Amino acid sequence: MEKINVAVIGYGGMGGWHTRHLLESDVATLCGIYDIKEERRQLARENGIYAYDSLEALLGDEKIELVTIAIPNDQHKEMSIKAMAAGKHVICEKPVTLSAKDLQEIFDAADKYGRLFTTHQNRRWDCDYLMMKEAYASGKLGNVFGVESRYQGSRGIPGDWRGQKKYGGGMLLDWGVHLIDQMLGIVYDRRIESLYCKFDHITNDEVDDGFKLDLYFEGGLTARIEVGTSHFVALPRFYMTGTGGSAVVADWRDACKLVTCDQWFEKDVKPVVTSAGLTKTMAPRDEKTTTESYIERPVSDVHDFYRNYCKAIRGEAEMIVTHAQLMRVMKVMEAAFKSDELGMPVKLEDTIC
Ligand code: NAD
Repeated sequence: MEKINVAVIGYGGMGGWHTRHLLESDVATLCGIYDIKEERRQLARENGIYAYDSLEALLGDEKIELVTIAIPNDQHKEMSIKAMAAGKHVICEKPVTLSAKDLQEIFDAADKYGRLFTTHQNRRWDCDYLMMKEAYASGKLGNVFGVESRYQGSRGIPGDWRGQKKYGGGMLLDWGVHLIDQMLGIVYDRRIESLYCKFDHITNDEVDDGFKLDLYFEGGLTARIEVGTSHFVALPRFYMTGTGGSAVVADWRDACKLVTCDQWFEKDVKPVVTSAGLTKTMAPRDEKTTTESYIERPVSDVHDFYRNYCKAIRGEAEMIVTHAQLMRVMKVMEAAFKSDELGMPVKLEDTIC
């Protein structure tokens, strides 16, 4: 495939990541960056990367076919539309916009200017997610009725623009967008009927510094997505349970452990002695009625995101991260904001995509 000429807008934490990983994907040539701050442009030069002096210079450079946008969230829409109007294909960082209306405007602009637009949903290549996707799709757990996905840190919300509402800060927009996208990838075959979301404000009053989001899927499946930034011991990264077994990924670096039930009834359950009495109901099972197995971490290469998108630009592949999927995630986030504001569950007109 002929390589794509690319430029990166925003040379901060994620912009730097893009400059390295686009090149490692071997499908793109990095032509330069533009950052609004001279000190970041200077840093790029020191790193051997060409820095455009202005946005206009970058967008006016006819050899650039694709721009990757890695600037604060509130500016994504305007920058994406500007870049497409200038004839560039666009990869925009997540969360692509702050509302479904804004996202639709981007899609309309992509149609109007005939450009390919997508969002950097890189966490579709995370091994922990891929193993849970396999656990669900394998059917080994029977009828799955619970899935839990969590990221819990202990350093509070970052002190930069992520802590401020006007820049599109907050953990639902920052991490929620990934975890919702993953959950919709795991539970690929059911509509969401309603959801309930509650924000935390432990260290930040202005935006959520964590949240608990429950998605109620059809068929009685509840999925909990939880992000926290004041947790000094974390709960398992992923947990899934069904009528035939349970699965857990304790930490994102671990394999996925499955415990499946071979025989429902047990004759000789040994009671557990707690300080206040005995329980058979909650006594753990032994190996006579259950089997333990593992889904090993798969081989996954996040560079396939760029490879797919660049091939799509050349008309050689369909985009993996589609507009319909991005809109579905956006609508779930919008409903989650509404639910927190109302303090009650919210119904969804959801369709599977
Ligand atoms: P950052 O603050 O480290 O960097 C942002 C950069 O954009 C800064 O250097 C700033 O000077 C520059 N900038 C701001 N406005 C600009 C403009 N109008 N034109 C050009 N440059 C401008 O932030 P970050 O962590 O790099 O986050 C940037 C984006 O990347 C956000 O949307 C964030 O959500 C996303 N992100 C995605 C992932 C992921 O895994 N997909 C991870 C981290 C961040």
